[in-house]
Amino acid sequence: MNASELIAIDQAHAWHPYTSTIDPDPVYPVRSARGCRITLMDGRELIDGMSSWWCAIHGYNHPLLNQAARDQLDRMSHVMFGGLTHEPAVRLVRTLVELTPEPLQHVFLCDSGSVSVEVAIKMAVQFWQAAGRPEKQRLMTIRSGYHGDTLGAMSVCDPVTGMHHLFRRLLPRQLFAPAPECRFGEPCRPEQIAGFAALIERHRDELAAVILEPIVQGAGGMRFYSADYLAEVRRLCDRFDVLLIADEIATGFGRTGALFACEHAGIAPDIMTLGKALTGGYLTLAATLATGRVAHTISAGDPSAFMHGPTFMGNPLACAIANASIDLLLASEWRSNVARIERILSAGLAGCRGLADVVEVRVLGAIGVVEVRHAGRMRDVQRRFVERGVWVRPFGRLVYLMPPYVISDGELQALCASVSEVIAESAAG
Ligand SMILES: *Cc1c(COP(=O)(O)O)cnc(C)c1O
Repeated sequence: MNASELIAIDQAHAWHPYTSTIDPDPVYPVRSARGCRITLMDGRELIDGMSSWWCAIHGYNHPLLNQAARDQLDRMSHVMFGGLTHEPAVRLVRTLVELTPEPLQHVFLCDSGSVSVEVAIKMAVQFWQAAGRPEKQRLMTIRSGYHGDTLGAMSVCDPVTGMHHLFRRLLPRQLFAPAPECRFGEPCRPEQIAGFAALIERHRDELAAVILEPIVQGAGGMRFYSADYLAEVRRLCDRFDVLLIADEIATGFGRTGALFACEHAGIAPDIMTLGKALTGGYLTLAATLATGRVAHTISAGDPSAFMHGPTFMGNPLACAIANASIDLLLASEWRSNVARIERILSAGLAGCRGLADVVEVRVLGAIGVVEVRHAGRMRDVQRRFVERGVWVRPFGRLVYLMPPYVISDGELQALCASVSEVIAESAAG
């Protein structure tokens, strides 16, 4: 297929994320990708600033991940997980239990981030039924969060950016505390968590769990908040008998400078969700981890089992690649490497502070965000980045970089420079 045929069929029949079929955004056909470079069908090469939405931490087409996939493919790509098991899944659950906070001992493997959030919510609800408190069914969260696009996950996304008004009759009504105002690296004064504290206390008897993204709120606003806030949330959950679900789907596997963002606050959640970088961006796979208390209480209740079981649960191919990806990460100097990326992003984006349209520049770990006052037209902004040889896809008023960890200093500087240029050009019209 040549590029123009491909685009014609795509525009006629393929639905892309958050797009119209009547007036689809332009799409750029990709021929291949390797390391931090995406090659378009017309031969242009783009430096990747997105890691395909937090996933491709080792870059694309990595020889070791390719080998892991081939080796597993020759054994089996899939068998059902009901009544059967296999080494790729067993190795993966053992590793996840070892790497995550100590209380998390039981791993439920599932297909995507959103599903792992559904699983986490169902675990919390089944936990309280089994514990003899069936009235505890609701969820509480903080505004500006993002937890996925399925119904349960959507119900705890920010009500405004999550478009709750469209699905009002269908969505369970959850409770929303204000988004944290205290920033990462700063303390959290009591009045800055007072809204959260009052809400959880008032609704303690109907609350199953608090769910939030630890430290970094991703797609709901790219905000970085104080570790003290998270530590205080943990204390309040304990005090009012509410479970804590940490959604580490975006933050897991080193992105914030800690292996898991909960480590910044030294806390352990009762339930944790993982996804995105879990397979290094190769295949969809996610996991929901639970403490012994949560798992055993559910299992001792009625009907003596946790009621979920996806068809592709524990997919051996995805698990084998996840094992290889985690091995690769842990064998690398990821901590100093993420610190290197943080330094270059900080220096490279600092100049954006002087631009007319810029509200704020913030950097944490391998995440750099420039918040502007006016959202440019997506397709124009996108074209300007592609013309500069980089792949950066802003959403709304947020222009952000979260490159693969293998990015070179020079590539990263080029990404930062293009962000400044495109923001300046967009502001100029
Ligand atoms: C991306 C994301 C999800 C949803 O994951 P999918 O794999 O897209 O379903 C959930 N929570 C957070 C924090 C995410 O960043």
